[in-house]
Amino acid sequence: MPNKNINMIKRITSLILFVSLYAITVAQTTAPASNGQNPQRRRNQPRAFSITVIDAAKTKVDTGKLGAAFRNAYPPFAAADGYRTKREVTMRIIDTAKGFTIKAVPGEIVANGKWLKSKKNLDNFQQLLNDALHKNWASVDTIKKDGYSLVFINKNSNFDATIQKNLIETYFEVYPKLVGMFNNKATHDVVFVTDTAYKGVAEASGNRILFATRYMNKFPFDVDVVTHEGMHIVQGYGYSYGRDLVWLTEGIADFIRYKYGVDNVGSKWYLPSFKAKAQGYKDSYRVTARFFEWIDQKIKPGMIVQIDKQLRDGTFKESTWADLSGKSLDELWAAYSADPVLHLVYSSKNL
Ligand SMILES: [Zn+2]
Repeated sequence: MPNKNINMIKRITSLILFVSLYAITVAQTTAPASNGQNPQRRRNQPRAFSITVIDAAKTKVDTGKLGAAFRNAYPPFAAADGYRTKREVTMRIIDTAKGFTIKAVPGEIVANGKWLKSKKNLDNFQQLLNDALHKNWASVDTIKKDGYSLVFINKNSNFDATIQKNLIETYFEVYPKLVGMFNNKATHDVVFVTDTAYKGVAEASGNRILFATRYMNKFPFDVDVVTHEGMHIVQGYGYSYGRDLVWLTEGIADFIRYKYGVDNVGSKWYLPSFKAKAQGYKDSYRVTARFFEWIDQKIKPGMIVQIDKQLRDGTFKESTWADLSGKSLDELWAAYSADPVLHLVYSSKNL
């Protein structure tokens, strides 16, 4: 994506410095547990980061150095931390007792002026800021296996270690398989973040999957959230399709979860029975996934995988349905509605 560099200098009290950074594009998916039918959210705005330095201690430290350190340390932290992580940061340099050095939370940095004036501390400011920011996380683990890596950032000190272990295992079991089958260009380096503030289930954005610890603690066996979200990373459709095809993106992710999830029985995850009056293909998620499984079984095996490929390479069109099956999307749905019976087999770890 193109960078939008906006450089602004403003003066408020003694000094304010705005630094604008790389524009990072993110997509979010939210799928609340209750019915799994909520619409996906997408954003296409560049993420600009800024720092405002308020030099209350009148240290006159080199703000260029502070800005450069911020530019290198903060955006990677924020990208890993979560999409709600503040982008406008205020840094206050204060005059205080010697014991205090630096504290950094999303959106706010406080540093001791006397400490910061030391040449050594200013020279190492990027690393010191980085360390201070990472103290907001309960733990960070990096796991590598067979050419794939997973950085697991846990922001909740009360998050169950067994769930963490199961999510990691599911990643290494499922994700490389999805990459191998559907998109060899997809990243091999994924970040998992467990967040207390996040109220959905999980969402994928870039190479990061954010898990709500509230949900995972309540439904610890729902490990195939990793399969659905991992498929979003593999899909990598970009943003050219906009909101219109969110139902399709989510339907494919749940179709893949149905097919390749490691333990759908264990998480009591099933495709809902067909209800003619209450459903449409745009209902997304599991309703759409069941329709896609029907297409796979009754119309054309492998067709949904072809659609996934076309969505990724940019050749997908409304006419793709008819090109591949001889029937338009509406005609496919009508045929499905007329005879929706399916034989479904769910994955289980306990079979
Ligand atoms: Zn999704």
